[in-house]
Amino acid sequence: MTELVPLMTAAPKPRLYELDSQQLATWCEAHGFPKYRAEQIRRWIFGRRVNDFNDMHDLPAALRKAMTDEFSLFPATVDKHLVGKDRTEKLLLQLHDGQFIECVLMRETDRRTVCISTQVGCAMGCVFCASGMLGLKRNLSTGEILEQVLLLDRLLAKGEQITNLVVMGIGEPLANLKALIPALESLNEKGGLGLGARRITISTVGLPDKIRELAKSGKQYNLAVSLHAPNDVIRDKLVPVNDKIGMAAILRAADDYFEITGRRVTYEYVLLSGVNDDPQHARMLAKELQTRIAHVNLIPMNGVTELPFVEPSDPRTHEFVAVLESFGIPATVRKRKGADIDAACGQLRLMAESK
Ligand code: SAH
Repeated sequence: MTELVPLMTAAPKPRLYELDSQQLATWCEAHGFPKYRAEQIRRWIFGRRVNDFNDMHDLPAALRKAMTDEFSLFPATVDKHLVGKDRTEKLLLQLHDGQFIECVLMRETDRRTVCISTQVGCAMGCVFCASGMLGLKRNLSTGEILEQVLLLDRLLAKGEQITNLVVMGIGEPLANLKALIPALESLNEKGGLGLGARRITISTVGLPDKIRELAKSGKQYNLAVSLHAPNDVIRDKLVPVNDKIGMAAILRAADDYFEITGRRVTYEYVLLSGVNDDPQHARMLAKELQTRIAHVNLIPMNGVTELPFVEPSDPRTHEFVAVLESFGIPATVRKRKGADIDAACGQLRLMAESK
């Protein structure tokens, strides 16, 4: 296969929101402006959806110039902006080094949920997932993570607000906690987006040490663990990193997460016809989770052209749910959003990479 040489441009100036409120206040002081300007600047970015430093009209021109000289706001290029029939919107962004990432805005009656990526590609190699097919290229920076949220926020109408955030895009979020945590803190902060930690869900393949590290952040983020199997034999096949970790260790870490944060853990389970969707699998899964305060989110397989997996029939899916419920385990089937625009993460990027 011939390797595509990505378009390279110079690294952008740092995104201003890469600085947290404290750092921005320090920067203001160092440039001869009072600290309180930091709060004003962040309000323009997070609350008032400004796209240009010069539109921050209640700030002195000298401050606007200093910011323009040193920082960027939205340096990523929007390569594609797709809008689905259900008003799901998806952005394919190209970064300065030519890499692509995706992020999605989903609308429901009373919710506006954004789904963001944390890495370019993924190293986990789950066999049914489009994101890992080309391996891991690199981690995203805090600024690149925040830029996705801010760009999606700018697609909303005046009275609309982001109500929920799911870190379920491309990449393994817990493999990039260093960049993710400051991004989430900015979104959580009152002077930021003011999005409650309980409205933020982080989905992980299940990295026990990182789950505990996240618990220690002191925030009540929701944790979703991608289990996808009722035992290690099946999980080893679907989620290759499992052979070094094992389900028992993941479940113990998730138990600790619940203990420390008080948040009920969600277990994600992508139903793959003929692979992990047997009622017997549901019983095995139920027995593992029975003693826990848990919730199972069944995800219908999103077809990926290159992959051999398909979702089971509706009756088969309902039977799986019924078995879990008979054991007292709450289970829901995830609604499909943006099916007509390939909203399942990773697929647009894959297409762009193989152009
Ligand atoms: N790395 C994180 C985030 C992945 S994306 C994790 O492993 O949780 C969020 C969820 O979508 C995960 O549960 C992931 O396994 C699942 N997923 C990946 N590819 C899918 C596909 N083709 N159809 C349905 N779900 C998929």
